[in-house]
Amino acid sequence: METTAPETPAPTIDIADRVKRFLLVLIEPRSYLNALYLLTAFPLGLTYFLVLTAGMISGAFLSIIVVGLLILLATIVAAWGFALFERELAIGLLGFNVPPLALPDPEIVSPWRLLVRHLGQPATWKSLIYLFLKLPFGIFASLISAALVGASVFGILYPLIKINIDGVSPQAIGNFIFPGAFAVAGLALSFHALNVVARAWGRFATDMLGVGEEQRQVWEAKRKAEAADRSRRELIMNVSHELRTPIASIQAHVDSLLLPVAERPDAAESERRLRVTAAETRRLADLIEDLLMLARADSHELKVSNRAIELAPIVQQVGHVLAPLARAERSVAVTVEDLPAGVWAVGDPDRLAQVLTNLVRNAINYTPEGGVVSVRMNDGTFEHIQIAVSDTGPGISAADLEHIFERFYRADSSRARDTGGFGLGLSIARELLEAMGGSLSATSQPGLGSTFWISLRRAQTPE
Ligand code: ADP
Repeated sequence: METTAPETPAPTIDIADRVKRFLLVLIEPRSYLNALYLLTAFPLGLTYFLVLTAGMISGAFLSIIVVGLLILLATIVAAWGFALFERELAIGLLGFNVPPLALPDPEIVSPWRLLVRHLGQPATWKSLIYLFLKLPFGIFASLISAALVGASVFGILYPLIKINIDGVSPQAIGNFIFPGAFAVAGLALSFHALNVVARAWGRFATDMLGVGEEQRQVWEAKRKAEAADRSRRELIMNVSHELRTPIASIQAHVDSLLLPVAERPDAAESERRLRVTAAETRRLADLIEDLLMLARADSHELKVSNRAIELAPIVQQVGHVLAPLARAERSVAVTVEDLPAGVWAVGDPDRLAQVLTNLVRNAINYTPEGGVVSVRMNDGTFEHIQIAVSDTGPGISAADLEHIFERFYRADSSRARDTGGFGLGLSIARELLEAMGGSLSATSQPGLGSTFWISLRRAQTPE
């Protein structure tokens, strides 16, 4: 079989590309920051060395008297400050992501305990070694950076100075080629070399100046455990708080029905009280259902079976069920706008219907009589489809909008209490949509109404 050789790009392009990449270093800010770091390494290293050795030696000699111990203490504090400064330099000039020197511990408040902990940490001693090594490194770094950059800059400036002094002559113009052009190339080469040195030292600084990876992980795990513990405590408090009112109401009503016959309310009143008791019990059962669902979401056991679903029939169905109820109970019109057919998304049809029902119910509950709740579907972006549930209710203030998806949050608790909610509906709806790979958000114009946006991932239309 005949094959044709693959076309090779013209070599000139390749060379031009390489030259461009080689010279690019001249306009990268990082090159100049690295060079600045290396140029200043010697004076800094020398300062650390002088301060620390002078402090240690004089402190050690005078340690028989208290003043020596104070000098040692001051030296430790100075070393700490130098290490913090060096960390900032490595981040700012070398561009390295150096972990913190010590992890925050809110339990440690007194400076003395802070110092004791500081002395017990490996990062402290590693940073001290680093500070001493900065001197030999500084001698090397400052020398080569000064020599390389100095020579190149001189080579670039020489033709300019020459032409100023001697005037224009063929030789002066020739100087622009040599040493001029060569010095530009030399400067680029110097920057490449200095960048290599700076990167190597930056990696070393990252290892020496920050807490180790293992320690960071332990700290992170501890922080997460504390947050989980706090949220568990909050949950228990919230649930207890929510249970109190309905249970007190049930108890009062049942107690009144258990009074001696003579003191019992009449039959009509007794029936009313029983109905209230039944309604409160149903509310409690709903609360338990919601809590179970949230607990499952927290332990990643929320069962959502995602597949390609056609959206229009689901949205239509929810509208069909709720529109007559809204009209009869609250004189609110629920309209479902023309839905584009053949739009498929990834999701669980039952869970999506549950979320939509929740949003439309909320919209109905918060809309005054005569208002309108409308549901529509946008084709959204190429990857996502949006379903919007809008109402002509009171809207939600910007401050509340930030929190309405939090558990147990109710923007206006007295009003929400009337509607019977516990402030869990939206957080469950969001969990469910996220489990479908989608999201839930809200926008609102206080006084005019709110819109809740469901976003789902587009699915391929099944054959
Ligand atoms: P609830 O069961 O109390 O309604 P949700 O989690 O569903 O709890 O809603 C949280 C809060 O968000 C509500 O208490 C209410 O203040 C606000 N909210 C939800 N939907 C709307 C809406 N359509 N219009 C105005 N406020 C709303």
